[in-house]
Amino acid sequence: MTPCAHTAAILEDLPTVRGWQEDLYRDLHEHPELSNQERRTAAIVTERLRDWGYEVHSAVGGTGVVGVLRNGDGPTVLLRADMDALPVKEATGLPYASKARSTDDAGNEVPVAHACGHDAHVTCLLGAAALLAQHTGQWAGAIVAVFQPAEELGRGAAQMVEDGLAQLIPPVDVALAQHVGPGPAGFVGTRSGPILASADSLRVTVYGRGSHGSMPQHSIDPVVLAAMIVLRLQTIVSREVDPTQTAVVTVGSVRAGSKSNVIGDHAVLEINVRTYDDAVRKTVLAAIRRIVVAECQASGCPRDPDIEHYDEFSATINDDTSTGRVAEAFTEYFGNQFAEIPPVTASEDFGDIPAALGAPGTYWFIGCVDAEQFWRAFAAGRMSEDIPVNHAPNFAPVVQPTLDIGTQALVVAALAWLRPAS
Ligand SMILES: [Zn+2]
Ligand SMILES: [Zn+2]
Repeated sequence: MTPCAHTAAILEDLPTVRGWQEDLYRDLHEHPELSNQERRTAAIVTERLRDWGYEVHSAVGGTGVVGVLRNGDGPTVLLRADMDALPVKEATGLPYASKARSTDDAGNEVPVAHACGHDAHVTCLLGAAALLAQHTGQWAGAIVAVFQPAEELGRGAAQMVEDGLAQLIPPVDVALAQHVGPGPAGFVGTRSGPILASADSLRVTVYGRGSHGSMPQHSIDPVVLAAMIVLRLQTIVSREVDPTQTAVVTVGSVRAGSKSNVIGDHAVLEINVRTYDDAVRKTVLAAIRRIVVAECQASGCPRDPDIEHYDEFSATINDDTSTGRVAEAFTEYFGNQFAEIPPVTASEDFGDIPAALGAPGTYWFIGCVDAEQFWRAFAAGRMSEDIPVNHAPNFAPVVQPTLDIGTQALVVAALAWLRPAS
């Protein structure tokens, strides 16, 4: 049997899972759950994996679920899907659109929607897990199916690692994950090296001295100070980062003062940083700290600034060797529906799993926009207007071929390691 024939024999049975996958996808879409609240989703995943003979560990790192299927001697492939939804009010108009509401960590009641497509990730991984379980004669090794909570907080992968993920599973040869994105459905893309950026969020509070607006000589004006900081931060990327490297420094929010004739006593700046290289990331974060502290000194502030580092995602770096192997398998199976893609400035916490397990990792994107609609918008130069991106209220993958492609991609990539020598 040729290697390709093993893949074909398993994926020939895709129609046996397609029906329940489509039903399950719509059900998950209609019942989204916020980060670390994925209890219903986790219960569904647990029950299905058990039915198919997986050894199942639930409540890993909170609501995480790990299914292990051991099938003789061979490599172990970890496949990961994230499960959480977002505090977004869905506006897709779909018959299975979410009307769900929930309480967030801060105690606010918020709408909830699968605006990032993690419902598709769960459905595709369950489909792949079912197909591999139905065809244990076609492969050897072990599959570890990881259903992760709280990706949107950048914490779920670390939660599972800290809760002993490594002790529940055999040593892993490769870790694989995928994400739906606003490309044409049917299309699969990846690249070696950096594929997603690191992200850091900083909340900076600077302290001045309040006064009457007519008596600035008695104040240390936090508005002027914040303005100096905002402008000076622009020099980090232009003057301190190697021009061949990529970095983004965005001040997304500045809050100070309350009224035209009052000089307030503090200002709060929220800063977001994206980089692909760890050394660049350290340079940028150190420069922000240095500039903020120095500007406060220059203004004569009565106290030091508070700098809170509240959100942190590492860059997702695809291992060259494992990504080469995935790319070869995708080229063989998907032909010209597979292509190399440029890096994306979004961020993910998947990389925490291969890093903690000492395994190479590969991450890829699958398109999820109706192909005809996508190319029409492309031709008309109306991508921003007509093609919703992840996290937008009107973002929702087209059900097919998205689910088929996502399921096929997981099986094809896993079999690049698992197929027997015969
Ligand atoms: Zn997201
Ligand atoms: Zn996502």
